[in-house]
Amino acid sequence: MATIVRPELATYQQYIDGEWTASQDGATFEVENPSTEEVVALAPAGGRDDVRRAVAAARRSFESGEWRNKTQLQRSRIMFEIAEHLAERSTEWALLEAQTAGATIRKASVVDAPIAVETFRSMAEQALQIPWYEPLPWIDIPHVSWNFVQREAIGVCAGIVPFNYPLIIAMWKLAPALAMGNSIVLKPSPSTPLTLLEVARAIDETGLLPRGVLNVVTGPGNDVGEELVTNPEVDKVAFTGSTAVGRRILEMAAPTIKKVTLELGGKSANIVCADADLDIAVDGTLFGSFFHQGQMCESGTRLFVHDDIYDAFMERLVDTAAKLRVGDASDYDTQVGPVISRRQYDTILSAIDRAQREGATVLAGGGRADGVGDRGHFIQPTVLTDVAATSHVATEEVFGPVLAVQRWNDPGEVIRRANSSIYGLAGGIWSRDTRTAIEMAKQLRTGTVWINDWHLLNPLAPFGGYKQSGTGRELGTYGLREYTQVKHIHVDQNVPRRDRYFYDVILG
Ligand code: NAD
Repeated sequence: MATIVRPELATYQQYIDGEWTASQDGATFEVENPSTEEVVALAPAGGRDDVRRAVAAARRSFESGEWRNKTQLQRSRIMFEIAEHLAERSTEWALLEAQTAGATIRKASVVDAPIAVETFRSMAEQALQIPWYEPLPWIDIPHVSWNFVQREAIGVCAGIVPFNYPLIIAMWKLAPALAMGNSIVLKPSPSTPLTLLEVARAIDETGLLPRGVLNVVTGPGNDVGEELVTNPEVDKVAFTGSTAVGRRILEMAAPTIKKVTLELGGKSANIVCADADLDIAVDGTLFGSFFHQGQMCESGTRLFVHDDIYDAFMERLVDTAAKLRVGDASDYDTQVGPVISRRQYDTILSAIDRAQREGATVLAGGGRADGVGDRGHFIQPTVLTDVAATSHVATEEVFGPVLAVQRWNDPGEVIRRANSSIYGLAGGIWSRDTRTAIEMAKQLRTGTVWINDWHLLNPLAPFGGYKQSGTGRELGTYGLREYTQVKHIHVDQNVPRRDRYFYDVILG
């Protein structure tokens, strides 16, 4: 066994209806450290009955009104208090993210743990701006009435979380659901269930949430996930994961017409213009493509470099990519950690092989990292050039440290090529001419565009995809609204019967 963060918790439990419980049949699965391939802990292999219990608890808590009937100020204040408690656990979570998600300890300490807490706090703060009551203009057709819109919580929400950001993406669902008065059942990825269970533990310890408002069920997607999506007592599904599973979620949610938000895959175009500041653009491109080993939905994996600077840019890019230190995620010197699993490792290496068979040339990387031994899923940051626009590596998400490079020289053409993707999650432009860059940004069919930057998401800004990268938005007040529904209330103003001439269509 590898070092475990909390030895007494080596066998984790699920959090259902305010209690810690094993799975329905006591089954567990192993959680692996992707840097060492050692088992870190056991997690409950939840099943459909566990989900049904969790959904029933969430429904009971919602119907009781104990949480949803609080005022917004009361809910936000409770969440601020919880956030203080969560912040005290940041270091522990950073270690867990390193040990189970392969997040480098640098990234986990600087990004994952603090931003997760900040997201929780920020959602509670932004919720104070959402109007729960909005008057409509005075309506006098067909006769005078007073009308307003009442915003309401949706009910029982299900949050399904991928492996790459177990902490932050769970917060993207948990925080807005709670802020807007819902109950929630969260399902982490089977590869990375521990941090979310620790979040539930930290919240449970505060005693500030009514029982059943938050539940976490761990287990496989085709059991726990499918039950969540098909259960008639679930009102909304917030899913983050692959486009393939996202399509299936939409189909499964159809019979019960659930509200669904989908945050899916991407193949984001990174456009480097001739006038880019190379110092920033080279490092920004490396950050945009190899951060978290490229396991970011909005990584800039399709790089378009202008002909005029191509040679100078690529020389620096390849030189630095080859020097990135790959190794154990828990080691503070590591810049690039492991990919999540042996399966992903094999998939990524076979995508690199296929790219070469389809004409690509490897300029950096291309295989297992050097000097890391036999254990751990370590892949060298890989730069591929001579990439055909229609090849697999240029069109499909690889979800690993693989950058596919193409050249360009015509601005209209590069936008057309950037947009010729089934995905539309993000894009980026490197240029000293901000005005031109903004004009290009407007033409990209993606939910986010960075100009002279990458990966900088913000709890205040909406995040989500165009096209097959998803539907709906997370974060910001846009994301909060996705956890509400609106009701129109019409109030008669004592109009006498004789003036209600519409009634006479059938009664007159
Ligand atoms: P995945 O689609 O394999 O799994 C995501 C989650 O869905 C997991 O919890 C999994 O157990 C569950 N699941 C699997 N099959 C299911 C089913 N039939 N029904 C219900 N749930 C099911 O994705 P992954 O490999 O964990 O994560 C990587 C993917 O996530 C990439 O495609 C990446 O682009 C995407 N992603 C998107 C965003 C975004 O915000 N757009 C963010 C992070 C990751």
